Amino acid sequence: MTVHEQFAEDLALYALGALQGDERVALEKHVEECASCRLELQQLRGDIALMAMSAGGPAPPARARQRLMSAIAREPRMPVAVPVRSRRRLWWGFVGWAAAAAVLVFAFTLGRENASLRRELGAMRSLLSQQTLELGEAREIVATLKASDSMRVTLVAAKTPPQPQGKAIYVRDRSSLIFMASNFPSLPPQKAYELWLIPMSGAPIPAGMFKPDAHGGAMVINPPLPAGIEARTFAITIEPEQGSATPTMPIVMMGVGG
Ligand SMILES: [Zn+2]
Repeated sequence: MTVHEQFAEDLALYALGALQGDERVALEKHVEECASCRLELQQLRGDIALMAMSAGGPAPPARARQRLMSAIAREPRMPVAVPVRSRRRLWWGFVGWAAAAAVLVFAFTLGRENASLRRELGAMRSLLSQQTLELGEAREIVATLKASDSMRVTLVAAKTPPQPQGKAIYVRDRSSLIFMASNFPSLPPQKAYELWLIPMSGAPIPAGMFKPDAHGGAMVINPPLPAGIEARTFAITIEPEQGSATPTMPIVMMGVGG
């Protein structure tokens, strides 16, 4: 799009006296510097005057009408409805053209708002489809993690008996935690494992209760946690089923390096 095409719509609005605010200022500035837009504006003004003056005649000058219409048509917009003119009186003719001009201004404004709404709608659509995609992915991951019929295999060095193992994946900025346990020994009734977030300083924070299934597997997904805690490591204790506020010794498992 050239600079002049960009101003074509504004020129017609300006000629009709309907351009306001920043757009008016920008156009006036451009017209001052640009001979071709200045000429275009003069022609448009001439066309409009001619149409108003000749309203009593049998028809407005075809050339003027044509040029005004094509100036308007340079931007995509809704079809413009031009009212049928009354030929009986000059006054009616003038009213007809005034109404036509009003309809044109209205159509301009609609076309303009329409274009900007279309752009916004397009942007929102692409954002929505992106989010739908991400949500779909997240659901699939969670479904796989939580599937009761999933096959869970812990791989260990050959000829080593499987050891209890816990894996914690923690994202501090989102207070998001996924913990997966495998080969955990079963517990006496009324007892459960409790996961603890051990912060850089301060007391351990409860991070979910779990009981291993028949194969010793368990999972904790996004337990309630305070926001933004930096974790030094994670630990596991055996607690009463309802959980404890502070860990009961001994710690049965502890993050490596914690
Ligand atoms: Zn120009």
